[in-house]
Amino acid sequence: MLVGVPKEIKNHEYRVGLTPGAVREYVARGHRVIAETACGAGIGADDDAYRAAGAEVVDTAAEVFARADMIVKVKEPQPAEWAQLREGQLLYTYLHLAPDPDQTRGLLASGCTAIAYETVTDAQGGLPLLAPMSEVAGRLSIQASATALQKANGGRGVLLGGVPGVAAGRVVVIGGGVVGTNAAMMAVGLGAQVTILDRSIPRLRELDAMFGGRVTTRFSKTEALEEEVFSADAVIGAVLIPGAAAPKLVSRAMLSGMKPGSVLCDVAIDQGGCFETSKATTHAEPTYEVDGIVHYCVANMPGAVPVTSAHALNNATLPFGLALADNGIEALKESPHLMNGLNVHRGQITNRAVAEALEMDL
Ligand code: NAD
Repeated sequence: MLVGVPKEIKNHEYRVGLTPGAVREYVARGHRVIAETACGAGIGADDDAYRAAGAEVVDTAAEVFARADMIVKVKEPQPAEWAQLREGQLLYTYLHLAPDPDQTRGLLASGCTAIAYETVTDAQGGLPLLAPMSEVAGRLSIQASATALQKANGGRGVLLGGVPGVAAGRVVVIGGGVVGTNAAMMAVGLGAQVTILDRSIPRLRELDAMFGGRVTTRFSKTEALEEEVFSADAVIGAVLIPGAAAPKLVSRAMLSGMKPGSVLCDVAIDQGGCFETSKATTHAEPTYEVDGIVHYCVANMPGAVPVTSAHALNNATLPFGLALADNGIEALKESPHLMNGLNVHRGQITNRAVAEALEMDL
């Protein structure tokens, strides 16, 4: 199969659908790869790196879209991109169609077969192509909070790890899933005092065993939440109720009970945020203050570290991508997990949640 890699054109998107390392894997399997010039510039991979991996480098995205049997991207196609997709062509990328009727109509009109990273599943019921970005965001949340806690950045001036003779900072993680676990790992690594709250007792059991007593686990009810938030230096919002907006777990009224200059880092902001006072921010201006509390609410946290994020994403997408390249659409019949990724096929929506959200026919 001829696999195409256009350069991402969404604002501030530096990742790339195939890294040179991934290109090598496709080429080793007998596939050909066509890459747009500078597609890897955002991760420090130049055209020569793509050529060395076996790709043909071309000057324009138009040539990639016109020639490739399958397009591998990162972000949902932009209008100029969906206009170039064609019937029978495979598209393998993040789509997030539910809130995006315009893109959905564009993909339906193109006749392409679109597989969305975010709905591919695994045998454990997880979302294997979303998990690496949650890992990145979780780990980054502690770096972001540590920076926001510095006095010059509006924080209370606490070093999370403390020093001998001075207590370490307190980090409270609400939601012990992928984001929360990775946040807790980093906070523990820095030497902070860490508490994780979750509503799932089996999950709290797993976390308790995993961290060997190095974190405190608490069932997430109002009393525990208030006690922990009021004594925290940094609170990481990492809850998820699949398919629903995030619950507002820290109200504006609660801010007055918090230590002035402490930090609320709302990783769940992409689902609306789990603090009442959260509003989405950007990497250019990541923080703002409400009632003396510093808020960090960047909606695309992995974008800050595109080198790490692109490699992590490629590691996860590669096995499914190779299956698609090897077998085309037949690969979906062989893997129910890849089939769950199918969102649009030859002018039809094929994902029930997407159809329901958009009130369109399945
Ligand atoms: P996950 O499903 O792995 O974990 C969510 C956890 O929240 C679960 O353990 C669940 O039991 C727990 N939970 C649900 N309700 C709760 C409550 N009331 N109190 C405490 N815990 C509760 O999800 P994840 O992959 O860790 O993602 C968490 C959030 O981070 C999601 O909203 C996701 O979209 C978001 N995210 C944001 C970015 C970003 O750049 N901002 C990047 C990746 C993920």
